[in-house]
Amino acid sequence: MIYLDHHATTPCDPRVVEKMLPFFTSVFGNPAAIVHEHGRAASRAVEDARIAIARFFGVVSAEICFTAGATESNNIALRIVGRKDHAITSAIEHKSVLAPLHESGAELTILRPDREGFIAPEAVSAAIRSNTKLISIEAANGEIGTLQNIAAIGAIARERGILFHSDITQAAGKVPLDLTNVDLASFSAHKVYGPKGIGGLMVRRGIRVPPLIVGGGQERNLRSGTVNVPGVIGMAAALELRAAEMEEEARRLTALRNSLWDSIAAEIAGVSVHGPRDLRLPGNLNVSFERVEAESLILGMRRFSLSTGSACSTGERGPSRVLTAIGVGEAAAMGSIRVGLGTANTPEHAAMLVDDLERAVARLRQITP
Ligand code: PMP
Repeated sequence: MIYLDHHATTPCDPRVVEKMLPFFTSVFGNPAAIVHEHGRAASRAVEDARIAIARFFGVVSAEICFTAGATESNNIALRIVGRKDHAITSAIEHKSVLAPLHESGAELTILRPDREGFIAPEAVSAAIRSNTKLISIEAANGEIGTLQNIAAIGAIARERGILFHSDITQAAGKVPLDLTNVDLASFSAHKVYGPKGIGGLMVRRGIRVPPLIVGGGQERNLRSGTVNVPGVIGMAAALELRAAEMEEEARRLTALRNSLWDSIAAEIAGVSVHGPRDLRLPGNLNVSFERVEAESLILGMRRFSLSTGSACSTGERGPSRVLTAIGVGEAAAMGSIRVGLGTANTPEHAAMLVDDLERAVARLRQITP
């Protein structure tokens, strides 16, 4: 089986696992138990990892808070929004952004993207009201790969004295990110060849966030609970590897994705591609085939792990919310597959995929009236 679902998750890099292993067995202390050396050793390792992660994002270590993943980070960040506030977000945000905003009881402006998934900074600017507390716009979309102009949106927020949160989960470690104008940013290790169940929230100094989980007061009271030490070590190792390898990998994956895109369009009739050609996550491709239902297509593609829309919505029927928001009709949205290329994928995999798609699409079209 060839794995082509790297937006859902990625395999943990063996070099990351190697770095994590001692923290399960020998350096096992509770980093809050600094009265003894076992605890202090764990604490030092966690703080070194915090510094490395902060350096990766170009922030200071006091601005990094460890969480169990981006879902939790988004839930924490959006607790800043209260019932009397107004918040601005987009229709293509991850559910862990939209759900807490809906639950907050705040007034919401949910911006619609254009046909390629872009949110215009001018639209954000025009939506600002006197009680706008926060703007939340993701850095990259996990279904169609669109990269938002978070520097420009953040600049607008800063000029108007409004907080700017960005879910950078899909973009971090894949493309360069400028967080200068970002006040809060959510990220997760398992999208960048790190372990699952560990993530972080960057919170600028001076911003007060009401905690979601209370108790022992760890992570400067923002997130109580014993810190996942092996996870933190793994996340730092994964991001350090991305820092070293991201640029070349982005170039390689962009070329691989574009050649896959061109081959699919050349070999198969009735294909549409969703999302932009440029300003797109390097490994992302989202295509639909006329008169083909994506689920049947994927079930027929026995050599590949592929996704329809977002894995987080698996189990839900109906067209993808993201594709609907960019104006893709219901039939095309139901026929869309998402390819998420990653470090292990090669041009041979792409060629095999085109072959298998060609055959599976032809077969399905034959049996579809
Ligand atoms: N935000 C985005 C944009 C995502 O793609 C995901 C993962 N599907 C999440 C948040 C949730 O991340 P986690 O799995 O770490 O909770």
